[in-house]
Amino acid sequence: MAPASALIDQHGRRISYLRISVTDRCDLRCRYCMAEHMSFLPRDKVLTLEEIAAIADRFVARGVRKIRLTGGEPLVRRGIGELATRLGRHFGHGLDELTMTTNANRLSEHASTLAAAGIKRINVSLDSRDPETFRHITRHGDVSRVIDGIFAARDAGLAVKINMVALKGLNDREIAPMLLWCVDHGFDLTLIETMPLGAIDEDRAERFLPLTEAFEALRGRFDLIREIDRTTGGPARYWRVEGSQTRLGLISPLTANFCDGCNRVRLTTEGKLYMCLGHGDRVDLKEALRRGGLDAVDDAIDAAMAAKPARHDFQIVSGAAPAVERHMSVTGG
Ligand code: SAM
Ligand code: SF4
Repeated sequence: MAPASALIDQHGRRISYLRISVTDRCDLRCRYCMAEHMSFLPRDKVLTLEEIAAIADRFVARGVRKIRLTGGEPLVRRGIGELATRLGRHFGHGLDELTMTTNANRLSEHASTLAAAGIKRINVSLDSRDPETFRHITRHGDVSRVIDGIFAARDAGLAVKINMVALKGLNDREIAPMLLWCVDHGFDLTLIETMPLGAIDEDRAERFLPLTEAFEALRGRFDLIREIDRTTGGPARYWRVEGSQTRLGLISPLTANFCDGCNRVRLTTEGKLYMCLGHGDRVDLKEALRRGGLDAVDDAIDAAMAAKPARHDFQIVSGAAPAVERHMSVTGG
């Protein structure tokens, strides 16, 4: 196999972060994310856990230091604990951080396995703590299960960050109470603007809440200190809530562009490597692996680096088709 060279894209950005969508399936149906009746990939189209691990090994050998497991809902993939344990073997050998984004519906069952695998921080989607609003947004979720999962994670020693998609007229009045709840329990909170990814049953523009508005409302109630030094190479900007450990993050791809420092690529459960959440450009690592083994994977990764776009060009326009046809659950959030 050729010597492993670091991943530098055509714009000179160093790629050190891999997100892996381990399944496109989910046990919830959040309205901004999925249509009620989604069709999912047949199982034979999906990478096996061994293939995911082999591809991840290659990325770590080429300088990826952080891996996030996501989906769909990662905890519905059978064997997810074993995969996390397997990837955790890279700690001390290139990998600095392994993490997960989950809806926490099944987190109570998995928290201790994830902690044992070396996961230290976990992102949990929680758009509302009100049972009815939560059920409405997720179409059938039970918020008490999610909250139990969050506390199981905390008890297992995981730091928790709550992800909350800001939805006009649905959860806007819950944003300040959510931040207060996070402060009380030592969680971080990241607010996310809804993004035009994949067809859903509603018009996203009707629920779009610019985070500039949400932030102004929070500033009136909390003492927020900007953390300019904190960069993750991602879209979030951070503030600390004075007098607490809680960090507030804002992910606003529509009202702020974040692409210059982009350090990430995304592997779908079908084995496609997407270079940008907001573009269709991709290379097929499953095909490469099955045809030519890890050498072919390396060649395909090199092709991806040469093609990574400079930036996304999202816009939320009422009545318009989504900017990108695939759902966030396919590419991995
Ligand atoms: N199922 C897991 C969860 O919900 O945390 C992981 C996958 S989910 C696709 C990852 C993140 O993407 C979640 O925080 C979710 O709220 C967010 N998300 C999904 N669709 C989105 C959209 N169209 N715009 C903005 N955020 C979205
Ligand atoms: Fe499932 Fe996560 Fe999408 Fe909600 S946001 S439908 S939990 S993948």
